[in-house]
Amino acid sequence: MKITVVGAGFYGSTTVQRIAEANYADEVVMVDIIEDKPQGLALDMMQSRSIEGFDTRIVGSNTYDATTGSDIAVITAGLPRKPGMSRMDLLEVNAKIVSDVTRNLVAQSPNAVIIVVSNPLDEMTALTATVSGFPKARVIGQAGMLDTARFKHFVAEKFGVSPSTVDAITLGSHGDTMVPVPSLVKVDGKPLTDVADQETIDWLVQKTRDGGAEVVGLLKTGSAYYAPSSAAAKMVEAVAKDTKADMPVCAWVTGEYGISDVYLGVSAQLGKGGVEKVTELPLSDAELEHLREAAEAVRTKQADVAQFAG
Ligand code: NAD
Repeated sequence: MKITVVGAGFYGSTTVQRIAEANYADEVVMVDIIEDKPQGLALDMMQSRSIEGFDTRIVGSNTYDATTGSDIAVITAGLPRKPGMSRMDLLEVNAKIVSDVTRNLVAQSPNAVIIVVSNPLDEMTALTATVSGFPKARVIGQAGMLDTARFKHFVAEKFGVSPSTVDAITLGSHGDTMVPVPSLVKVDGKPLTDVADQETIDWLVQKTRDGGAEVVGLLKTGSAYYAPSSAAAKMVEAVAKDTKADMPVCAWVTGEYGISDVYLGVSAQLGKGGVEKVTELPLSDAELEHLREAAEAVRTKQADVAQFAG
């Protein structure tokens, strides 16, 4: 099993570390344009193998030769947000980077499953699908795993319980039209709607929507990467091990929820073919309406971004 991660910044390097420490891959290749940076990080991580107890080899590179024949590729290359910026402010600069990275990846690994992370996420996922020419099932975006983990965190903190006892999911876009789904939240087996008033539910939903911006505001430079890399690494593992696990991801929808032909945050089974099946969840009428609004908002932006495909 060979996995490539493009971008050796905070998100990329922590993703490489998490994948390598899980010890199922033969090799993880980390590519970045900054000379010697991926090589230095790879050497450092390789020197942790005897302490952490893993055998996965980590290779750093400034070119794509080393990535040849990758089974899975993760695209984290691009600029992160600064305080006050929206993810959409990154569109033009990251579109150029992601298009270039995709072309290079595809030339070396025509059968890979690509997991996109760079922001704005929904648009960069659609762009990668267009530039790669891959079947849509083999191009997936990471956002819902992270937004869902944030939702679970805020619910767990509010009720003073372990996050492992919270069921929750977010759908929609990785942005203003994110759709946290309160009707499916359970706290220790009890529906959130039974244990919280509307004001508390609205507060939890807004905290989740603003989850990324809150971290950006505190860090001042750069954006979150510990929880984001956990999310991407979990998706990589599901594809690598062909688990068919259901997880919230940005996937191409073809009629689910009455929505077609757009990349949208939904729950999907991941396996060696990428997205194996989109799973439709029971939503309230209002949540379904919000999901459809999210689809129309991202559809327009995904069409706009096609101009960068070149
Ligand atoms: P970072 O600045 O730490 O790292 C980005 C890296 O990309 C840098 O090392 C840079 O040299 C590299 N890079 C730039 N152009 C490149 C190219 N053409 N080829 C190869 N490498 C290139 O940023 P980060 O914190 O690692 O974030 C990376 C991206 O992930 C950002 O766009 C950020 O907004 C996004 N992000 C997404 C989510 C999500 O949930 N989808 C969450 C957090 C961050």
